[in-house]
Amino acid sequence: MDLGVFVRDIPDFPKPGVVFKDVTPMLKDPDAFRECILQMSSLVEGLDFDTIVAPEARGFIFAAPIAFHTRKALVPVRKPGKLPYETLEIDYELEYGKATLQMHIDAIHKGAKVLIVDDILATGGTMKAIAEMIEKCGGEVISILCLAELNFLRPREKLARYDVRTLISY
Ligand code: 5GP
Repeated sequence: MDLGVFVRDIPDFPKPGVVFKDVTPMLKDPDAFRECILQMSSLVEGLDFDTIVAPEARGFIFAAPIAFHTRKALVPVRKPGKLPYETLEIDYELEYGKATLQMHIDAIHKGAKVLIVDDILATGGTMKAIAEMIEKCGGEVISILCLAELNFLRPREKLARYDVRTLISY
């Protein structure tokens, strides 16, 4: 099944000049979404990881069923003020401005083998920040898995140290 047809372009979102990849057509097609989760899971089959880390909000949508299917632990990364227990955080640069993400301090144990999952890999900034936060806790980033990557933004240059796997390239 060609999953690319279930991702649509939305011009000028969230701001003029940006073409946003919208994954909601896939989410509302049960066969396509199921196939997507199975294909993403097979992309990391055989890799030695025990934990999946994912950022809100769309990352959760893909990471949870992959964690269920592959029987791995699931760790949420959230915007400030959302997680109830003690957190550690990382600041990172966006195309315009800065952002902060948080994770529970006990979410990643030393030696954890981690797969990071999200929907779209754009500049790679979000993934790099999450990878660094995992490494600060003593975890090892085994791979980074996304549904699609925006190649023209060159995310793999920022993530040269990591194994990056995606189903679709734009
Ligand atoms: P990056 O940090 O790689 O520039 O941006 C990736 C983050 O922003 C991901 O969490 C992703 O959900 C979101 N994102 C950036 N561009 C798009 C897009 O075109 N479509 C979707 N669905 N998410 C995007």
